Amino acid sequence: MQTNKTKITVAYGDGIGPEIMTATLAILNAAGAELEYDVIEVGEKAYLKGHLTGITPESWDTLQRNKIFLKSPITTPQGGGFNSLNVTIRKTLGLFANVRPCKSFSPFVQSHFPKLDLVIVRENEEDLYAGIEHQQTSEVVQCLKLISRPGCENIVRYAFEYARANNRKEVTCMSKDNIMKMTDGMFHRIFDEIAQEYPDIKTRHLIIDIGSALLADRPEGFQVIVTLNLYGDIISDIAAEVAGSVGFGGSSNIGRNFAMFEAIHGSAPDIAGKDLANPSGLLNGACMMLVHLGQNKIAERIQNAWLKTIEDGIHTGDIASADYTKQRVGTQAFAQALIERLGQKPTQFAPVDLGEGKLINIKQPEQHTVNKQLVGVDVFIDWSEDNRNANILGDKITALAQPNMQLKIIDNRGVLVYPNGIKGVFCSNHWRCRFVSADANVEKNTVQTFATIQHADIYQLLQRLTEAGIDCIKTENLYLLDGQRGYSLAQGE
Ligand code: NAD
Repeated sequence: MQTNKTKITVAYGDGIGPEIMTATLAILNAAGAELEYDVIEVGEKAYLKGHLTGITPESWDTLQRNKIFLKSPITTPQGGGFNSLNVTIRKTLGLFANVRPCKSFSPFVQSHFPKLDLVIVRENEEDLYAGIEHQQTSEVVQCLKLISRPGCENIVRYAFEYARANNRKEVTCMSKDNIMKMTDGMFHRIFDEIAQEYPDIKTRHLIIDIGSALLADRPEGFQVIVTLNLYGDIISDIAAEVAGSVGFGGSSNIGRNFAMFEAIHGSAPDIAGKDLANPSGLLNGACMMLVHLGQNKIAERIQNAWLKTIEDGIHTGDIASADYTKQRVGTQAFAQALIERLGQKPTQFAPVDLGEGKLINIKQPEQHTVNKQLVGVDVFIDWSEDNRNANILGDKITALAQPNMQLKIIDNRGVLVYPNGIKGVFCSNHWRCRFVSADANVEKNTVQTFATIQHADIYQLLQRLTEAGIDCIKTENLYLLDGQRGYSLAQGE
């Protein structure tokens, strides 16, 4: 029989997962959500069957087919060898946006900020979370921060579209582009570019440190915050904490073709199987899913009944208080109380009005082609000889650079040590040596004339260095892209 219902994938998860999912689905069904469910097994059981990512191949097929996933928390097994299911799902399904609304439900949940109501839109796939780390010397490890232009465009555009669809009037971008001028700089620049397409929305940019401080101190001044993966991870927890309602939080992970919805809390093994858990976090995640599917009216009905239940003093143990709790209930009784209130509106909280369903569609980032010219190479070396005297190293490799390259500078973790380095700078055994073409003329901030080099010049340079016993641990090619310098200048360069 033909039906208008959307088939979604559901996972009951571990710990309190099955209890809160049972309660959530009962509420969705009672509210008339146009949904059908395919249940898959993820988490502990899948890990124990030997699936190191916590999900079976058949479950992948179901996820790919249905495209929408409502997931209860899972327990991540202790010990090495297991991969995070969440990270695997985000990356495999291209879920680039993590959306976390944070709202105060004062006075029923204590918060210093009763008007706090903000949404964090966090980039979900890139940044330091690519997990590309290397130990390069006995003293130095590195983690690669990868930021792509399409990645920035996707997340920034999503934040603006989200703001529009949810009647939010301001989007704040947070980055650290005063220090990371290329990676965070690109994020900020793309934010400014895309903001031009949304003249109805106010914008501002804050450096992440002062942004975090303001978020902790004056969170009521924010509506939508868009930021990079690591900063988003940190400020989401700050915002949830100052809202006072970690247990209420739902979140969505949105991609172009797939989306996953969940509670922000974990599987709470300490209270599992006792009918004590608060199902609100997962329920709020499920309401975000309904809005994503355009079923706004159903989400609105559930949220109003939920607010009414909270203000009627019907609370699970985690939020129970002497002043505001009239009836302390278990997970399923809370769901039942909410179901009885479907159709009612809160009187102390402002009723929720989600308007008509507006599906958020963001356009594909355009592909940019650029003219790339190779003008030099940074060679990173592991060197501990001669009391780590940079002048001895510099003189040695200056000679090895010739005939087709010249040594510009050497730095040690970003501090210039050759030529004319400051005496007494602490040096690790990790050195960055910048070579450019022998006849390049690269001046500060502007490239006036330069000579293109060939990859073969770099190979020959590496060969000379290696034959002289220098341990080259990594190289980074230096490019001009459409004539613009595609690398940061070294200190003192
Ligand atoms: P947790 O969020 O599960 O629990 C922290 C505390 O909050 C516990 O005291 C718990 O009883 C309480 N709590 C959490 N949710 C509650 C609810 N709905 N109602 C009432 N009380 C609630 O965090 P944890 O103890 O650090 O992690 C437990 C497990 O969950 C770990 O294996 C962790 O890896 C996993 N985890 C999974 C996810 C996910 O699947 N998205 C997220 C976070 C943690």
